[in-house]
Amino acid sequence: MRITIISIFPDLVRTFLGAGLVGRAVEAKTLETKVVDLRDHAHDRHRTVDDVPFGGGGGMVLKPEPLFEAVETHRQPGDAVILLSPQGEPLTHALATELAGSRGLLLLCGRYEGVDERVRLELVDREVSIGDYVLMGGELPALVLLEAVARHLPGVLGNETSAARDSFAQGLLDFPHYTRPQEFRGLRVPDVLVSGDHGAVAAWRRQEALRATWAKRPDLLERAALDETDRAVLASLGRDSA
Ligand code: SAM
Repeated sequence: MRITIISIFPDLVRTFLGAGLVGRAVEAKTLETKVVDLRDHAHDRHRTVDDVPFGGGGGMVLKPEPLFEAVETHRQPGDAVILLSPQGEPLTHALATELAGSRGLLLLCGRYEGVDERVRLELVDREVSIGDYVLMGGELPALVLLEAVARHLPGVLGNETSAARDSFAQGLLDFPHYTRPQEFRGLRVPDVLVSGDHGAVAAWRRQEALRATWAKRPDLLERAALDETDRAVLASLGRDSA
């Protein structure tokens, strides 16, 4: 998969793309990335990418000409053009897995008051938001989206099963994790995890995933696929809390 990011802060984006598992995926070419400096598509002496808004009111707006030229130069067949925007559809697990099936993504990072509306109208296939709050630019949202998508690409995560087990993948939150030491400050790892009984460990993990979801995100339970055993666990949690 290829992901192209258009930004006025290309170095910020490049630094991230060199780190951690994303960095390894880029090096291994599992993920092909290209970072485009929007200013390379501004042709005046000052490489101007922004201007004052029509109608007044202060702030600046990213101009259409550099963005049109950048997208028209770097978009490849099959690329979905995504504008990061607080007005977009929320980035969820479902959207990240859907986007992981794309041939390519071209991510537009806004700044200031945002981008000229004609960019959205003419160039953008989807607007995506990372949450109901406003940041100062689209770079962090673009990187959040990239990482959320990349971990669904084959070979990106060291442990292939972990993406499938993580929170949201099966409609529930993840179960708690423990590592050594077995006892820390008087807190012991649950005995079942050191019992060597794989069936009991799996049952405990499912029960704890249900417990975490019930306590922290009960809304997820309405859509999760639950069997009889799950329902019995949830019923007992209800009793426990009474
Ligand atoms: N005036 C815009 C509004 O209220 O809808 C906000 C512009 S914001 C200050 C500047 C840029 O940051 C946006 O164009 C977008 O690219 C990015 N941005 C800010 N918050 C975001 C969010 N929650 N999700 C995705 N992108 C965001």
